[in-house]
Amino acid sequence: MSKCSEDPGVITPVIDPSRCDGKAECVDVCPYDVFDLGILPPEQRTGLGFMTKVKGTLNGWKQGLVVHGDQCRACGLCVVACPEKAIRLSKY
Ligand code: SF4
Repeated sequence: MSKCSEDPGVITPVIDPSRCDGKAECVDVCPYDVFDLGILPPEQRTGLGFMTKVKGTLNGWKQGLVVHGDQCRACGLCVVACPEKAIRLSKY
């Protein structure tokens, strides 16, 4: 059972696209369906480093996406579960 304690709409996860490999651990672990696995939108690819763009091109830009950030309860399960350490929590 999770130890989620914050009200929704206060904290949201932020995914670092240069680290995310789309393994979907966050999708599996979040009790509130905050994440989905999808394709990083083109407008979110600007400003990324060369190696990130190479990786994205090779894997079709498959990434974890924050689709319901307003439902986050700040339990931290996704931060711990992510094998790439790609997730941090931030103010919503
Ligand atoms: S901290 Fe992560 S696992 Fe917990 S509710 Fe928020 S998005 Fe879901």
